Amino acid sequence: MTPADLPAHLPHLIGGEPVESLSGATFGVLEPTGNRTYATVADGGAEDIDRAVRAASTAFTDGPWPSMRARERASVLNRIADAVEARESRLAELESFDTGLPITQARGQARRAAENFRFFADVIVALHEDAYSVPGSQINYVLRKPIGVAGLITPWNTPFMLESWKLAPALASGCTVVLKPAELTPLSASLWGGIFAEAGLPRGVFNLVHGIGENAGAALAGHADVPLISFTGETATGKTIMRTAAEHLKGLSMELGGKSPAVVFADCDLDAALDSTLFGVFSLNGERCTAGSRILVERAIYDEFCARYAERAERVVVGPPHDPATEVGALVHPEHYERVLGYVEAGRAESRLLAGGTRPAHLPTGNYLAPTVFADVAPDAKIFQEEIFGPVVAITPFDTEAEAIALANDVDYGLAGYVWTGDLQRGHRVAGSIEAGMVWLNSHNIRDLRTPFGGVKHSGVGNEGGRRSIEFYTNEHVVHVALGQVHTPRFGASR
Ligand code: NAD
Repeated sequence: MTPADLPAHLPHLIGGEPVESLSGATFGVLEPTGNRTYATVADGGAEDIDRAVRAASTAFTDGPWPSMRARERASVLNRIADAVEARESRLAELESFDTGLPITQARGQARRAAENFRFFADVIVALHEDAYSVPGSQINYVLRKPIGVAGLITPWNTPFMLESWKLAPALASGCTVVLKPAELTPLSASLWGGIFAEAGLPRGVFNLVHGIGENAGAALAGHADVPLISFTGETATGKTIMRTAAEHLKGLSMELGGKSPAVVFADCDLDAALDSTLFGVFSLNGERCTAGSRILVERAIYDEFCARYAERAERVVVGPPHDPATEVGALVHPEHYERVLGYVEAGRAESRLLAGGTRPAHLPTGNYLAPTVFADVAPDAKIFQEEIFGPVVAITPFDTEAEAIALANDVDYGLAGYVWTGDLQRGHRVAGSIEAGMVWLNSHNIRDLRTPFGGVKHSGVGNEGGRRSIEFYTNEHVVHVALGQVHTPRFGASR
């Protein structure tokens, strides 16, 4: 269902003004239920990124934002949160239409995005700077300063929420920003201009350049006047950006791919584990970085788990994203859909298909895939090792705790992990042994914004979350003050 008043064209926003690319280039963007082009988008190049960086640099050097008192900046951030919340239903409608996310799951995104701004508003007013005294000789105090223009590059899964995740701490820190949203889902980013204007964010603090990753994204990553890049996306893209950014020694925050394990022991609350592991991989269409896409199940309950899991997966409601009954919608783009289908074919050849594997019969067009469950998946299988980013799960049995940990860690990624057990000691032991940035014990992914968010191994570099995000967007600048005479060796004074 097409939302009312859908814009037919999406321009950049530079220095507070909607503008076209200097080249005049545009690209078309598809909606995922019929793969029809619904709008054109300004196709940014290096010269547009440069314009946006200049606007952001001017706002940083000449504007009030970086030196504004924390309380004043926090008031703007809280007004941004209010403006985001006021757009909840519009955002959900646009996001669901553009990404194919079920509308019920898109609805929570505005509240989470608003919460990011409220949270960082609170963080900056409570922030204190450090002082180190050396009695009688020195006092050293630290000034925390925003670094400058932050380059934000974001992916197409939950685009608005992930944009807010970077915008909120970057702005809270006093940085000015250039955002390059994902080219597959540019629609919801068009809401930011109105939100920021309504909240009173000074012009030029926020700049938006649409475009293809290899052009606009690469130009932002390589721009000499952008000292830091916060990136969320694929591991391969992250490596390219790190190489580009190395030339200018940029600060980098890299939130990358995942292939997270859910380890299910026989002594767990099986009903809860089933609910959670189904939600963990099929929510957000499986297009979720922290998806528990490998389920490792203790052999004593393996057959029962597989049978019950497959039976539930078959009953998951796949349907149009705008339908409130839909649990799994349409995958974002036909090329991504084909890629996911390629993994389904690989899975058929290397393991046992228990459910799904095909387009649901009642949905003859659009990027729909029935929730797909493979069992007996060997650790060297492609579908065990590689991120699929769709509604596809691999189930593998294990016999011992040591084997479960070895299997959990036998991939390049290390983003999240989930452990299901009734044994407290084992739960903590295994949770602490999984190579991941974040583990949940007897829970799916529910996050306290103060905690670190990030991955290890090929899932990322650096942690965001709470004060860590503020640390990323700021420099610590220490001033050393002598409190008395300082002994100085007298060079050149001996003859
Ligand atoms: P992607 O890497 O293809 O694109 C992400 C962004 O990078 C887009 O804006 C794209 O235009 C840009 N880009 C592409 N090539 C570029 C280049 N050479 N230089 C600069 N920018 C470039 O990722 P995607 O397909 O949009 O998103 C899915 C991926 O994101 C998955 O791997 C998923 O796991 C990951 N992800 C990770 C997290 C996390 O927090 N760890 C969260 C969400 C998604």
